[in-house]
Amino acid sequence: MSILVTGGAGYIGSHMVLALADAGERVVVLDNLSTGFAWAVDPRATLVEGDTGDDTLVAWLLREHAVQAIIHFAGSIVVPESVADPLGYYLNNTVKSRALIAAAVEAGVPHFIFSSTAAVYGNPAVTPVPEDADLSPMSPYGSSKLMTEIMLADTARAHPLRYVALRYFNVAGADPAGRSGQSTPRATHLIKVACEAALGKRPYMEVFGTDYPTSDGTCIRDYIHVSDLAEAHMAALEHLTRGGASTVLNCGYSQGYSVLQVIEAVKRVSGVDFEVRLSARRPGDPASIVAASDRIRADLGWMPHHADLDRIVAHALEWERKLESLKGRN
Ligand code: UDP
Repeated sequence: MSILVTGGAGYIGSHMVLALADAGERVVVLDNLSTGFAWAVDPRATLVEGDTGDDTLVAWLLREHAVQAIIHFAGSIVVPESVADPLGYYLNNTVKSRALIAAAVEAGVPHFIFSSTAAVYGNPAVTPVPEDADLSPMSPYGSSKLMTEIMLADTARAHPLRYVALRYFNVAGADPAGRSGQSTPRATHLIKVACEAALGKRPYMEVFGTDYPTSDGTCIRDYIHVSDLAEAHMAALEHLTRGGASTVLNCGYSQGYSVLQVIEAVKRVSGVDFEVRLSARRPGDPASIVAASDRIRADLGWMPHHADLDRIVAHALEWERKLESLKGRN
């Protein structure tokens, strides 16, 4: 029996592979290496280079490896990019997810865990936002993920497939043992960008929007350590294999930080006072989004171990330094 991890060569997927391999699970990674790296896949896993939308390949993989659970990370994740290229996002995130779900049903795979996002809420009226809040994504990225949640809910009503959709808030940090981290070149995510600025990999960074209706005018987000997120998936897998019902759960700490607070943390932890420019808003950004996290704690018994902004930043910085020595690998 094995577990198929799509997008396992990517940032979050590679941490999931580490958690599964550390727990002694057999892991098959399916990744088209469009943004991931073969070297990021732990050697205890089997890496298959290919696309989630390739029905023939996926059907063969599910059969060949007797896959009992699919953890589906593969997809596109940049909000402003989705505004510029909506159809690309609907293809990668929605159409290919549909193909994967269909293959799971066809092969009789009983368990499915899906990487959803806080972007399904849009700009929530309540904060912290609970799972049953109104869903009104502000970007094609959020819509593309919500459509997959809807497909899963309908499929689970019609077929013997149970699923957990995890709505990630802002994922950051790196494996505390230094085995993986955010490695994407030209990354756009705040903590990564600020770490690059702190280490002199970029001359300055920008704050996108200082006129939001928040305490300091910059956007507020709930940052979750990538290893705590991988643990949430482990708990979701256990839930499903114990016979637990399909569910949708937020993954965050219920603690918000503004963009300026995050930048302060990176300056504090790195000891570097890098240049910060105040710029215009970025399209598709909600002002404030913080997770209600009581449901995942109660239903899965999930307990974060790294819920501290400085710790997240310290791990991100450590990885950013290490990346230099990894340069030149594929
Ligand atoms: N942000 C910023 N400068 C950057 C990158 C991000 O001011 O170089 C802001 C962005 O506008 C948003 C927040 O930081 O308000 C988090 O953005 P990120 O891209 O990290 O994640 P998202 O919330 O879009 O998934």
